[in-house]
Amino acid sequence: MQPNRPKFAVDEMLGTLARWLRIMGYDATYEKGRTDDEIVDGANADGRILLTRDKELSARMGERGSHVASDQLEEQLRQVWRDFNLRPDQDLTRCTICNGELEPMPVEEAKDKVPEGVFLLNQEFFRCRSCGKIYWHGTHWLNIKKRLADLDPNQSL
Ligand SMILES: [Zn+2]
Repeated sequence: MQPNRPKFAVDEMLGTLARWLRIMGYDATYEKGRTDDEIVDGANADGRILLTRDKELSARMGERGSHVASDQLEEQLRQVWRDFNLRPDQDLTRCTICNGELEPMPVEEAKDKVPEGVFLLNQEFFRCRSCGKIYWHGTHWLNIKKRLADLDPNQSL
């Protein structure tokens, strides 16, 4: 994990963006069902950058507010990636469900907790410290890596 990475608070309309930021290893809370005041106070207290589709809300955050212009996920990711010079982790580090940090899990502990086929094909497992969800590298992960590589704005430089 890299030090001094930006932390994000992600507005309700941008749930998928929040999941992708977590996949990239960034701390991104998803502000579902909260009032604007709660979102602003929480983001300020936590030193988070607020990503929102709401221009007024973003303005309330001053320098730490970021108005996400597009309603398309890929454009949103490109914008945030460029604006904050993101450097995705090369491995799984954060839970996409709850934003908790992942830790390596002993293989023998994973044995009874994942499908047998998955266990036979994988030597590395990770567990969320917060919710306990178990992760491994599968075809899904390869697809994610490919999609991130396609989106990386630094690729075309
Ligand atoms: Zn979790």
